[in-house]
Amino acid sequence: MAAEKINLLGLPRAELEQFVADRLGAKPFRARQLMKWIYKQGAHEFAAMTDLAKDFRAQLEEVACIKVPQIVTEQTAADGTRKWLLRMDEVQGIETVYIPEPDRGTLCISSQVGCAMDCTFCSTAQQGFNRNLSVAEIVGQVWLAQRELKGTRGDRAITNIVFMGMGEPLANYRNVVPAMRIFLDDLSYELSRRRVTLSTSGLVPQIYKLAEECNVALAVSLHAPNDALRNELVPINRKHPIEELLAACWHYLEKQNGRSITFEYVMLDGVNDAPEHARQLARLLRGRPAKLNLIPFNPFPGTRYKRSSVPAILRFRDILNDMGIIVTIRRTRGDDIDAACGQLAGRVNDRTLVRLGTKLVNPSVSA
Ligand code: SF4
Repeated sequence: MAAEKINLLGLPRAELEQFVADRLGAKPFRARQLMKWIYKQGAHEFAAMTDLAKDFRAQLEEVACIKVPQIVTEQTAADGTRKWLLRMDEVQGIETVYIPEPDRGTLCISSQVGCAMDCTFCSTAQQGFNRNLSVAEIVGQVWLAQRELKGTRGDRAITNIVFMGMGEPLANYRNVVPAMRIFLDDLSYELSRRRVTLSTSGLVPQIYKLAEECNVALAVSLHAPNDALRNELVPINRKHPIEELLAACWHYLEKQNGRSITFEYVMLDGVNDAPEHARQLARLLRGRPAKLNLIPFNPFPGTRYKRSSVPAILRFRDILNDMGIIVTIRRTRGDDIDAACGQLAGRVNDRTLVRLGTKLVNPSVSA
């Protein structure tokens, strides 16, 4: 039986160099050429790689492939936000959202199918945990989006990548870190470390590990200003309480020479949006290199929470501002297509796709 072909999509540079040396007896520059073709040119067939010798391409065909995701559905919102549901082999969908803004284009990617963290306000949590995405599935989201966005906004449609889709990225550390190395590599997407953001609910040991191994921006889903409330909203807090989490964050920043950490705070009506919560939050973050991002909650079927009112959100922001905290309020995007992370895949996996009336797309790239 023929050995299974190696998928080159998702091999970081060092592993690709090792692969071409061990399996094909080729020099490292061949790996560098391959990377440029795959990520910069978006090639997924060796035949298209015209500056590689014919016999080298033939060798590659025998032992390797470039397996990219297929589009299951795609939707575009009135504000230009685009959302894809993708898949590689498995039945479950991988959700990716592109958010265009005047000064940037942000791709929000997933790291897992479902999530085990069980945050009570999150629609992904309702699906439970299904599996980790492979490196190829994580990088494949960017590859695919880049192909689909080609020609829009010049050559750099994607300027930022954020791990804020489905899943807790630090719970899939093994695959997320190599994927981030590819995003940062000059031979592929060439993003600066400030433009790749890993958002975590607070896996403290992995934050310390990441501080040693990969330099990207960190965002933390805080969502509550005290342990009693955070234990309820973000259950990982029972294992790693706020004090421990913040200590890990400041360590990360120091180690990485970073500027600041963004703390995400979902605004839940009557739950975490009282003036006293704002004051507690300000006391936690005051004098620290921290920014706070207030996120109006996006309700989903079956949730017990409601979005905070606009006056409550503004009052919350003002208290924090007055106490010296930098606060932004996230604009909700793609409301008409459920672009809040976690919502599309949840519905598709519930098999209610047909009723949603989404456009089914024939996969134009074979897996
Ligand atoms: S908020 Fe993030 S970490 Fe929490 S359950 Fe949802 S996807 Fe998982």
